[in-house]
Amino acid sequence: MIRFLIILILPIIAFASQVQYLRWDGNSYLQFLQENHLPLKQLYYNLSGDNQRAIAEIQKGTHYQVLKDSNGTVEQVLIPVSDELQIHIVKNNVHSTFKLIPIISTTKQEGFVLHINNSPYYDILKDTNSRSLASIFLDSFKKSINFKRDIHKGDKVVMIYDQKYRFGHVFSMPKLLAAMVQTGKTKHYVYNFHGRYYDGRGHQLQGFIFIRPVKGGWISSTFSLRRWQPILHIYRPHFGVDYAVVIGTPIHAAASGKIIYAGWIRGYGNVIKISNGDGYVTLYAHQKRFKRGIRVGKYVKQGQTIGYVGVTGLSTGPHLHFGVYRYGRAINPELVVQKATKRLWGKAKKSFIAYKEKMDKNIDRYILKNTPPPVIKPFQSMCKLNISKLNPMESYHQQIQQRIKMH
Ligand SMILES: [Zn+2]
Repeated sequence: MIRFLIILILPIIAFASQVQYLRWDGNSYLQFLQENHLPLKQLYYNLSGDNQRAIAEIQKGTHYQVLKDSNGTVEQVLIPVSDELQIHIVKNNVHSTFKLIPIISTTKQEGFVLHINNSPYYDILKDTNSRSLASIFLDSFKKSINFKRDIHKGDKVVMIYDQKYRFGHVFSMPKLLAAMVQTGKTKHYVYNFHGRYYDGRGHQLQGFIFIRPVKGGWISSTFSLRRWQPILHIYRPHFGVDYAVVIGTPIHAAASGKIIYAGWIRGYGNVIKISNGDGYVTLYAHQKRFKRGIRVGKYVKQGQTIGYVGVTGLSTGPHLHFGVYRYGRAINPELVVQKATKRLWGKAKKSFIAYKEKMDKNIDRYILKNTPPPVIKPFQSMCKLNISKLNPMESYHQQIQQRIKMH
C-alpha cells in the first residue's frame, strides 16, 4: 500500500525528466551508444569478456528503458539480456558505468480453459493475443498428439503456466507447468518437470534433440542466467555450456539447419550461428577457424563439421562455448542435448508424482471455475512518462537490496 502511494505522489513532485519504454529494434549496441552520445570506450571497448558477451545477448524486440533529463540527454539505461539480468548504464561526465543487475519481476501462476473451435494454435492466439502461449502449447503436445487427426471442435484445453511481469507488463516467455487436452472422454496430460516434458507416467516426451557438438572432453562450465561472482561482487551469467577439448577438435552441427551467422562477435571470437527450425538457434563460439565452405545461407546436416575449437575472443582456455536459443532466449543446452535416460525413477519419480498430483488438482480447479483465457495487451512502442527522476533509481535500490538479501 505504501509503495502504491509513493508511486502516486511521485508525479506531483516530478522533475521534467522522463522514462521512455522502447523496443530494441535490432540495431547494434555500439550504434545505440553513438546515437545517445554515450562513451564507447567505457561502455563497450574497455569492458570484460563477460560483459561483452552479455551485450551480444541483447535480442531484437527486447523492451528497454531510457531515463532522460529535461534536455533530452540520456542519464540511465536498462536493457534486459535475459529473464534474470539487465544492463544498467549510468551516464556520468567523468566516468559512466556499466553493470549487470538483476531484473525485478513478479511471477504469477495463471491458467485457463478453452474450447476448440478451429485449432489449438489458432484459438489460443485469437483468444489471448499471445503467440507465446499458442507456441508453448503446441510445443508441449507435439510429440504425443496429432493436432490434425486427434483434436476436434468442442475439445477442451487447459493450460497452467508461470507468467512474469515487469513494470506491470507481461515480460518474457510464459513457462508451461502443465497442460491437458480432453478429446471426447480421453484426457491427455503434459507436465513440465525440471525443464523437460513428461506424460502422466513420468515418461519423457522426446523433445527436439541435439547431439553433443564435440566429441570427448568435459563440461568445464555449466549454464546459468544469474551467476554471482562472490569475490568480484558482480554477476557473470553464462549463456551456454563450455566443453573443454583440445585446440583443433572438430565442431559438429548439433542439428541440421541453416547458417545465419559466421563471423566475429566481441567476447565470443569466431562464431557460427545455425537456425535449426522450430524457434531454435545454436551458437558455437571461440572457434579457431571455420571449415572451408561454411558461410551464411548454407544448409548443414546434423553432425556435419562446421569449424574447429580455438581460443578466439576473450576465452580463458581452449573450449567450445555452445549456446542454445529458443525464440531468442538462451536456454540450458543440457536440457536439449541427447542423453541416454528418458524415464524417471527413484527419488526423481517420487517428486514427479507429487508435482503431477498438485498440477492435476490445479487443472481440475480451472475446469471447475471454467476460467477464460487472459487477453494480453500488445506492447505500446513508445510510452513517455513524465515521472520523477527518483523512480528508476528507486527501482535500482530495490534491486541492490534484493541482491544483498540473496547472498
Ligand atoms: Zn562459455
